[in-house]
Amino acid sequence: MTTPVSTTSDTPTYDSLLSGITDPGGREVLDPATGEVVGRVAAAEPLAELLSREQGKPLNGPNARFEVGACAAWLRATAATELPGGTVVDDEDTHAELHYRPVGVVGAIGPWNWPMMITVWQVAPALRMGNTVVVKPSEYTPLSVLALVQVLNGALPADVLTAVAGDREVGARLSGHPGVDKLVFTGSTATGQAIIRSSADTVKRLTLELGGNDAGIVLPDVDPKAIAEGLFWGAFINTGQTCAALKRLYVHTDVYDEVCAALVEVAQAMPMGRGLDEQNVLGPLQNRAQHEVVARLVNAARDAGAKILLGGDPDPDAAGHFYPATIVADVDDANPLVAEEQFGPALPVVRYEDVDQAVAMANRLDVGLGASVWSSDREAARAVAARLEAGTVWINSHGGVHPMIPFGGVKKSGYGLEFGVEGLKAVAVPQVVNG
Ligand code: NAD
Repeated sequence: MTTPVSTTSDTPTYDSLLSGITDPGGREVLDPATGEVVGRVAAAEPLAELLSREQGKPLNGPNARFEVGACAAWLRATAATELPGGTVVDDEDTHAELHYRPVGVVGAIGPWNWPMMITVWQVAPALRMGNTVVVKPSEYTPLSVLALVQVLNGALPADVLTAVAGDREVGARLSGHPGVDKLVFTGSTATGQAIIRSSADTVKRLTLELGGNDAGIVLPDVDPKAIAEGLFWGAFINTGQTCAALKRLYVHTDVYDEVCAALVEVAQAMPMGRGLDEQNVLGPLQNRAQHEVVARLVNAARDAGAKILLGGDPDPDAAGHFYPATIVADVDDANPLVAEEQFGPALPVVRYEDVDQAVAMANRLDVGLGASVWSSDREAARAVAARLEAGTVWINSHGGVHPMIPFGGVKKSGYGLEFGVEGLKAVAVPQVVNG
């Protein structure tokens, strides 16, 4: 792993960050001979750079450029998705039709881990269904979202999409505001609970995408080397700061040592460092508080006698919130590193002996966003998947999302769905016309 260095050594101004973004079509490219405009450099690259500088994630790997690309993909897919109404009863006595109308004003409150992509997840379906939207970005990553909104507003009519930057107080005001008809919230479970309370007086419709602590179950028939890279990215995408990332891994005792060794081998080869350096695929944690959470939980495992196979020793002098990729073995299922959402680059690997025990451990927490089952036998994996309490269960991968596949959590991971036709329904109100 390369030595981490600061992400903040040359602090740019807000204006310089926005250069190249302010024109939604991008910078003009002139023909040097004639001076004519022959093309435009799209806003994607300056957006990715701003995201990297503010959030910390590297340009490369499944990080900043990937996130900006996902924004474009989600916008295109959502724009192309239809939610038609239709006739529900048509007989001699009755003709009833169901129509989907706009909700009105949609409030969108987001987190700091995937700030641009999650904003697009919230905004695109709401606009598609004819609503107006007020976005409230995380106080940790406002610039990325403001810049994105600026780009979108280059194509939208005035005042359809607005952004209000601010902290939790601004979020609370938005969620209690009588002019907001629907709130789409992505963030922690504790904040989701606060939003349920503050939106009660106005009976706002809610979509709540909350915290998770996703389990993965590795069955004894796997080829450890073949699944190691998938396991790694399932856990360490965005340096572990991902809601539906693999956060606790249950591995059958027959393949436990081989899976741990293969994971360590993959993790060791992944360069961590400054986001703007092209070679890095892991970056710093976005903020100090998150670094402290990860350090506290890894230390809790170490103090309880778990084995730190890799990482676990952040450089106290690192200029930036770098925490090395950490893999922890022989850890008890009750340990806080397993039971709490670490939201960072630390993966506890728990040994199990029979699959019933693994399913019970996976289901024992009060959250259920994602889960995964890893096996050479797809049907065996599907049988285990059916027993897991999670909104999505992936087989032989973890965390992949698609604009047409519904996504949402169960238990305290929230309610309501995003993406595809279900996502459009979530930002519409059904109206029956009968007669
Ligand atoms: P957070 O809950 O601290 O903050 C999220 C947003 O809520 C911020 O914009 C914040 O200003 C705002 N906010 C805070 N208090 C509020 C209040 N009382 N009323 C209204 N708004 C308020 O979450 P975070 O730390 O930014 O994000 C990390 C968490 O988000 C993790 O738990 C992660 O699992 C979760 N997450 C979930 C999903 C998902 O799709 N389920 C996706 C990404 C992140």
